[in-house]
Amino acid sequence: MLLRPALAAGLLILGLSQASGQSDAPVRAMDWQNTGRTHDEQRFSPLSQINDGNVQDLGLAWYADLTTDRGQEATPIVAGGVLYNVEPWNIVTAYDATNGRQLWRFDPQVPLRFGRLACCDIVSRGLAYADGKVFLATLDGRLIALDADSGEPVWSVLTVDNSEGYTITGAPRVFDGRVVIGNAGAEIGVRGYVSAYDAESGAMLWRWYTVPGNPALGFENEAMAMAAETWTGEWWHKGGGGTAWDSFAYDPALGLVYVGTGNGSPWVRRYRSPGGGDNLFLASIVALDAETGEYRWHYQTVPGEEWDYTATQNMILADLVIDGRQRQVLMQAPKNGFFYVLDRATGELISAEAIVPMTWASGIDMATGRPIENPEARYGTVPVMVSPSAGGAHNWNPMAFSPQTGLAYIPVTETYMAYSAPEDYSPETGPMGTSFTGHDEIRREIARYADENSRAWLAAWDPVTQTERWRVPYALKGSGGVLVTGGNLVFQGTIGTSFAAYRADTGEKLWEMPVQNVPIAAPITYMVDGVQYVAVNAGWGGGLAHVERNAYSELFLGPPRLLVFRLGGEAQLPPLPPESFVVPELSPPPPQPATASPEMVALGEQLYGQNCALCHGTAARGGVKDLRHMSPETHQAFADIVLGGALQANGMASFADVLSAEQAEAIHAYLIFRANEDWNADRGREAQ
Ligand code: CA
Repeated sequence: MLLRPALAAGLLILGLSQASGQSDAPVRAMDWQNTGRTHDEQRFSPLSQINDGNVQDLGLAWYADLTTDRGQEATPIVAGGVLYNVEPWNIVTAYDATNGRQLWRFDPQVPLRFGRLACCDIVSRGLAYADGKVFLATLDGRLIALDADSGEPVWSVLTVDNSEGYTITGAPRVFDGRVVIGNAGAEIGVRGYVSAYDAESGAMLWRWYTVPGNPALGFENEAMAMAAETWTGEWWHKGGGGTAWDSFAYDPALGLVYVGTGNGSPWVRRYRSPGGGDNLFLASIVALDAETGEYRWHYQTVPGEEWDYTATQNMILADLVIDGRQRQVLMQAPKNGFFYVLDRATGELISAEAIVPMTWASGIDMATGRPIENPEARYGTVPVMVSPSAGGAHNWNPMAFSPQTGLAYIPVTETYMAYSAPEDYSPETGPMGTSFTGHDEIRREIARYADENSRAWLAAWDPVTQTERWRVPYALKGSGGVLVTGGNLVFQGTIGTSFAAYRADTGEKLWEMPVQNVPIAAPITYMVDGVQYVAVNAGWGGGLAHVERNAYSELFLGPPRLLVFRLGGEAQLPPLPPESFVVPELSPPPPQPATASPEMVALGEQLYGQNCALCHGTAARGGVKDLRHMSPETHQAFADIVLGGALQANGMASFADVLSAEQAEAIHAYLIFRANEDWNADRGREAQ
């Protein structure tokens, strides 16, 4: 298994790319041309100039400040000595990869109102490169090919109907002249699909829906007719969901493209499919013919999904020896907490084991491939605690796989969450069909348990034995995506606002540098002119911020940046600005006095649950901005922000079309009430 070549620094050659396994031939070892580097999406680089023997000499080579202070989730790409990066609002910048000199910049001018449709921040997870073009997908649903030399658009196509709730946050993939892209919006009530476009012309080649539409209109293909057998009622009115918002992989020898699909829309199964059913192809791994888009096979990780358990987390292809047989496998650690190993030619389940403690299922029945569910997890209108939470045991933060160690490296979180269905669901009361309000005492109890028992770690997972080989525990949830290299190194950004390197075989920490922000994105590595670099985006935000506890406001955050490292790098970050050291949780100022009537607060709570909780957290805890800690200026500007769109450039679009001035004021009253409630509870604890 250990193939690491003992190469001297700088002697890396093209042929080394074979070390990373199949489907690597067209990609140069020194580049990182697609988000997962190669079509097998291993996020492994054979480069070993930086290795377990010298990583302590790693230093900052250069950095670039990023424009928008929101979640930076993108994996940069590198081709031919140029680094291409993408930020929130899909702004693309090309840099000289050796020194950070800006070569060009492209702003697709995404209309700011789309910020409201993005369930989990206005993020972009990456780009793709092929044959002199950089491919970009935008939040408002466009797919754009840019000339890699000039940054000028070559073609642009709209891939969604902008009258519905579609957005795109995932990276496009390009292979064999085709660009594949999915979309997001299952929280807004859309029908998911995947499309392929001609890389030269932008002409659409095929489209495959992930859930069936209205049978009266006829099914697009046999797979949709098959899927419709697993739905009941009139599901198509509510979209159905199943959006493929993040992960794809491609096997050129099998001619298959793999698609990871998302959660149901609405969340609660009986509100979208009253008679139950598996609801294909929610929460599934689906193999499609890469040329035609025809369905070949699927594996559904969560039949009848209703916990936001997406199977969109990154999929990795590798060849493993299991029970004495060479197997072509696909690996995934989706939100639901299991690690799956499938035969990628047939979809056969080879093995599945839990990577976290969980309550929703006790295992996978290997005879049927179905989870052994805990019936109590199928919630009603009274909140029940389920683990993992909607944040998942593993989310979009990519895992990586090393063919040298045979291990997968996974950013893991152990999470708990209150799930409940609203008493009076209708599409008008919110498209999600799940409730974030009511039964306060039960919710408080669950939140308390979740705070005390949630944790996170970096796991090295053996996919052959389905066991954990080592782990690095973190004090809090929220560490970043993972890179593994031929230098026996695993790189990861940490929730402790640092960037760290661990030995891939043992997990021993070899190097760590404070970087003033949390690199939640996945790092990459590349080589130019004989020098190996490691690059990562650092910028806290995104979906993980939603379900988290108070402690995040304790982070000391500098501006978001692209950071690039090399051996002997001597660049220095500027000192943190003084205001970064405001730590509300450690010395919170008293909140505004709560003066509103209980009726006003109750109305505000209901409206908050329907309009705000998705981004700002259940009961206003955490979220993209913790609204219990508003400054006097923010309180003053509350109506301007919520109705007037004053902060729309930062992703907070106007809600004037759905909220009246009185309703906005009720939400404001609820937030002031919540701030006082928690502030008083904290003072009470301190007094004990
Ligand atoms: Ca979701």
